[in-house]
This record gives sequence, structure tokens and C-alpha cells, in this order.
Amino acid sequence: MRLSKSFLKTLREAPKDETAVNGALLIRAGYIHKEMAGVYDFLPLGLRVVENIKNIIRDELNKIGCEEILMATLQNPEPWEKTGRFSDQEVDIWFKTELASGGILGLAPTHEEPVTNLMKSYISSYKDLPLYVYQFQNKFRNELRAKSGILRGREFLMKDLYSFHTSQEDLDRFYHEVELAYGRIFERMGVGDSTYETFASGGIFSKYSHEFQTFLPVGEDTIYYNQDKSIVLNKEVYNPEVLNDLNATDEKFEETTGAEVGNIFKLKFKYTEPLELKYIDESNQQKTVYMGCYGIGVSRLMGVIVEKFADEKGLVWPETVAPFKYYLIGIGENGISEAEKFYTGREDTVLFDDRDKRPGEKFADSELMGIPLRVVVSDKTLADNEAEITDRKTGKSWRVSLDELFEKF
Ligand code: ATP
Ligand code: MG
Repeated sequence: MRLSKSFLKTLREAPKDETAVNGALLIRAGYIHKEMAGVYDFLPLGLRVVENIKNIIRDELNKIGCEEILMATLQNPEPWEKTGRFSDQEVDIWFKTELASGGILGLAPTHEEPVTNLMKSYISSYKDLPLYVYQFQNKFRNELRAKSGILRGREFLMKDLYSFHTSQEDLDRFYHEVELAYGRIFERMGVGDSTYETFASGGIFSKYSHEFQTFLPVGEDTIYYNQDKSIVLNKEVYNPEVLNDLNATDEKFEETTGAEVGNIFKLKFKYTEPLELKYIDESNQQKTVYMGCYGIGVSRLMGVIVEKFADEKGLVWPETVAPFKYYLIGIGENGISEAEKFYTGREDTVLFDDRDKRPGEKFADSELMGIPLRVVVSDKTLADNEAEITDRKTGKSWRVSLDELFEKF
């Protein structure tokens, strides 16, 4: 991508009403634009990060046999009324809207009801099960506070996966596969070391659910962890009864804060019973389908990665999610023409700063944007037939020969 051809601009300062570090930095670096509190647009660089995050998730979910779909955002109240969740008393974050022809619709805050309803058209026999579907979808929630940048949006991007089974054992088996897949997902995004599977309350049908909490000073959740046993609990379940359950009454727990980047639930019959999602088993008996659901906050995760790695100069992206691998700067006539040569054929991995700006500004923008490696070709480096590489994370610079640059980069 050529910066000279993009509408993208970096800003010296973030808007005054953006107090979260992730929001302020992403706006300044030109990744996102703020519409209003909790509502953001993703610009070319921001969208590339989102796509990279999605592709990692997609890759790991496809590996465990999940199928991708995209469901509607406008919600028919009917299935939600059957579970009692269309009520504003039950679910207090609904955005609702009216049809011109009369009647009320919801804007999806999540999709358990519609996906269960959808499956009534596709599941009838034990031969249809198990099955696993997921989507990347914008969710709408009328959150009371939206002051954490993209960590808490009123419109935000979620990955939601739903699984359907004939037995508790099969639900348990798949739940475990998702636990492992989530571990790989967070690892690949560079937050594996700081993300912990955390015990959370499970609602009515299973004793616990699990959250995936990334330890983060600005995280909104209070969590308790025991390093020796590697046990992490959220606030709801940090009590003597649960500690007893986990054989951890004598253990010391420390309090810290986390950002919930994902969660997994064994729903069992919570939605399939009221919505009557049934199948015929081998002995011709009608049975209720077992269900699980598994979320990841895609846009929140992007914000968490920003908060985790940013430094005083700006963003720092792990290579796996970075919008580009290289930030290319040519200085001087020969430097610019050599940079052009390097750019050709690498348009998808190189962000070429070919703008008519001073080198100092380009260097500062390369740091603000957080692209992993900066490549500088100047008349000075060319005198030695070399280019200069700088690692954004460590700040270390080194020289490589032009041959090496063209062959290995
Ligand atoms: P929270 O407790 O943070 O409000 P939640 O329990 O309401 O989260 P779920 O309904 O389970 O979250 O949604 C699945 C995932 O979507 C969460 O684990 C989180 O990563 C993400 N998420 C939830 N609400 C938001 C939001 N308002 N903005 C961005 N991401 C969100
Ligand atoms: Mg919530």
C-alpha cells in the first residue's frame, strides 16, 4: 500500500473525549475513526488488523470442523419471546427499532435464539449431529458506559460459535476442543502468556462456564489468581464454596484486573428446550438437542493487543496481526528509486511511505503506526550497498545487504 495514494492521516492529538489509550492511539495512528461514544469506523489499516485477527480465529475453528455462516442483524422478536429474553427487564442492553409497517424489531446483541431457531430447519435426526456453526458479526448493545475505546463498544465485532449435540459427553468433548483452539488463537495473536482460562458462573445447567481473561491494568473485570496452581476465578465465583470445589481453600489468591476476550458456555437445553429444537434418535425417540456457545470479542481483542504492547512512541503490533510487515522509507533520489524496486511485487506486505514529507515525520509515523520492521534505503546506506532495518518492538537497528533485502524480505 502506498501512503501517498491513501486518504489516511495520522494525528498529533486524539479527540478530547477519547480517554482510553487504545482508542486514542488507534485514532491518532489512522486505524479507526470515532463516530460517537462506543461507535467506531475501521479504516484501511484497522480493517487489515481486524481481518488478520479473524483469519487466525477462522483457521483454528475450521480445523476443528466448524462451518462459517453470516446471520442477520435485524431480529424477529418471536424466538426471543419464547426464551423470555426480548424483555428489557431480562436483557437490559437491547437496541430496538420499529418497522414502518408496524411492529418491533431488535438489533442483535447476540444470536443464541435465532441460531437455535435456524437449526430447526436443518436438524431432525441424530444423523445431522453434531454440528458447529460460527460467524463474525456486528453486535449491538446499549452499554451504559462506553469509555474504554474499542474494549467496550455499543456496536462491536464478535465471533460467535454455536454447537449442537446428541449427548452431554459429546458437548463436553467439543467444549474441550474449543478450549484448546482458543489457547492456540490467543497464542498466535501474542497474548497467550497473559490470557488465562478463568472460572465463571455457569448459569442454570452447568456449574461453571469459562472466560478467557487477559491480565490488563485497564481491564474492567476483577479476577483472582493463584500462580502456583494456575487457577483464575472471576468475582462471581470467588467464594468459599467454589474454592472448596477446586481444592484450593488453602491457596493464596491475588486480586488483579482482566479484559474478557472470550467465553465458553455449556448451554445444554437452555435455549433448545424453549425453542423446541429436537431430533429423532436411533430408537426413533424424540430428544432435545444439547447446545454450547463460544464467543470471542474480535474488536475488543484488537484493543487489548494495543493496550498490551503500545509504548510511548505509539502502537506495537505482533507480526501475526500487524496490517503490514514492513514500513518502507526511501531517502534521496537513489534511495527512493531503490525503495520503489523493493515495493514492486510486495504491495501486500509493505506499507510504502512515499509521501512528500520530511524523513523525520516518516520515522515518527512508522513508530506511531507500529509496523514490525522499518526498512530505510537512503543514499547513505546505498553507498555501502545496504539498507537499514529497525525492529519496532526493541528499537534495534541493523544493516542488511541489498542482496539479502531482496532475497529474504
Ligand atoms: P462483558 O462482561 O465484558 O460485558 P459479556 O459477558 O457481556 O462481556 P458475551 O455476551 O459473552 O460478553 O460476549 C462474548 C464476547 O464479546 C465477550 O467475551 C467479549 O470479549 C465481547 N464483548 C462483549 N461485550 C462487548 C462490548 N460491549 N464491546 C466489545 N466487545 C464485547
Ligand atoms: Mg456485557
